[in-house]
Amino acid sequence: VRILSLETSCDETAAAVIENGRKILSNVVFSQIDLHELYGGVVPEIASRAHMEACDRVVDQALREAGMSLQEIDALAVTKGPGLVGALLTGVNCMKGLAFAAGKPLVGVNHIEGHVSANYLSHPDLEPPFLCLVVSGGHSHLVEVSDYGTYRLLGQTVDDAAGEAFDKAARALGLPYPGGPRIDKLAEEGNPEAFTLPSPKTDGRYDYSFSGLKTAFMNTVHTLEQRGETLPKADLAASFRRAVCRELTNKARLLLQERGRDGYNGFALAGGVSANRELRRMASAMCEELKIPLFMPELHLCTDNGAMIGSAAYYRLRNGELAGLDLNAMPALRLV
Ligand code: ATP
Ligand code: MG
Ligand code: FE
Repeated sequence: VRILSLETSCDETAAAVIENGRKILSNVVFSQIDLHELYGGVVPEIASRAHMEACDRVVDQALREAGMSLQEIDALAVTKGPGLVGALLTGVNCMKGLAFAAGKPLVGVNHIEGHVSANYLSHPDLEPPFLCLVVSGGHSHLVEVSDYGTYRLLGQTVDDAAGEAFDKAARALGLPYPGGPRIDKLAEEGNPEAFTLPSPKTDGRYDYSFSGLKTAFMNTVHTLEQRGETLPKADLAASFRRAVCRELTNKARLLLQERGRDGYNGFALAGGVSANRELRRMASAMCEELKIPLFMPELHLCTDNGAMIGSAAYYRLRNGELAGLDLNAMPALRLV
């Protein structure tokens, strides 16, 4: 089964052709970063317009690189939410039109389910049940993937998402958007023990909180600035990254220790922040210590892409879950 998928939930216009949910035949990502960098973040109106201009071209390129015509495709898939409403609508309308014109079935995909499914592409043998830490620009979730398309939310952030915290900290250091990857790079040259940042406190055992950490970081930066000191940016970046990743892995470790890992096939990372080098190292160390297999998407499948949407769509299609031509964008769609 070959699926042509489109992702437009935020600032990437991305399309892919995926075979049986596991094999990438093509994966085209057109990033709008250049357009938004000037404003220090994603501007929704600009994103929608750019998606509209890029959709057809990116879809055509995905077909061309897969060496296929639309007629050889079995189904179409599109991200229906969560994300920016205008950005989502552009993709949904594009694929509804194509599905109607070509007479192909259409699948609406949850973007977060897509991030989780990136692991099915990088690890063709991975099967549920497994535990997954979804860390992206808008989410920090600990989820049990009980089966394809079946999830249980075990923990989540009570304020900022991890990616959002990285982006805000980066901005305090004067780094351009998107800050996460830039902080990560800078941190490689810094001392992670240079600055002590507080450990977040939450009521829920497996819940996250990053806003206190972010505020403490900003206070540290402002104090240094007020003293007229040159910012030790690499040390600051390394200390912040260490604090965030420690928090991410500590809660996951607690969960794995308390609930046991029996019955789970492994622990997985997903979402843009799973590209973070320190998080990947700390997760590897943790899984080695707990003797549980670790799964991570390849770097290019961590951030938004069309391939992950095509993988998720395959399992929905297998369950007969098709979308009608009344499919609408769902900006606040939840995983569970
Ligand atoms: P969501 O998936 O929750 O709807 P999104 O699609 O905007 O949000 P992603 O594309 O999954 O998020 O991830 C982007 C986020 O990941 C940004 O916040 C970015 O800064 C962060 N990010 C990407 N690479 C890294 C990295 N190496 N280290 C830290 N953060 C990173
Ligand atoms: Mg993005
Ligand atoms: Fe995303």
